[in-house]
Amino acid sequence: MICLCEELFLSRYGLEGRIAILEDKHTVLKNFGLNDVNWLSFWNIDCRLLTMLYQSLDSKYDWFIIVYDYEKFCSDLKIKEAIIWHEIGHITFPVGKNIICTDTEVQCDRIAIDYGHEEGIKKILELTLKMAHSLNNKLLLNMTIERQKQLHFILGADGQAGSINTFNVDYI
Ligand SMILES: [Zn+2]
Repeated sequence: MICLCEELFLSRYGLEGRIAILEDKHTVLKNFGLNDVNWLSFWNIDCRLLTMLYQSLDSKYDWFIIVYDYEKFCSDLKIKEAIIWHEIGHITFPVGKNIICTDTEVQCDRIAIDYGHEEGIKKILELTLKMAHSLNNKLLLNMTIERQKQLHFILGADGQAGSINTFNVDYI
């Protein structure tokens, strides 16, 4: 079931575009290759990390942000706002087909930080790190560590630029 949960008007922020937040469990599970809902709890996956951005074919909206569970998505406002702004970042820095580039993810993190959501990004990266450990996914682990390094760098702490890693789905 697809549910329209929220509308965002970017003109409030001096940007163009109308975004609808949709809850669509089926599409999210399919996109991430999860055939069974139980895998989320089995692999310790926080479903907020499975949020996706799609270009809209509906003339009413320009983009859709698709979440797995809207109530859970809204359960921590800082995380919610940071995910929304990270996804808005993907309008400018799209995710390549079947490829995830750490640089792209860092650019989107940076946009969220520019709009004041560094706390949320920090929390998201901690959750992503947990998930990478749980999935025993080295690529995701390396990418997340690199994003955390870049976050420190962006926020003015010690940090250094690193290599680009690729991964085949977009964990926000
Ligand atoms: Zn992303």
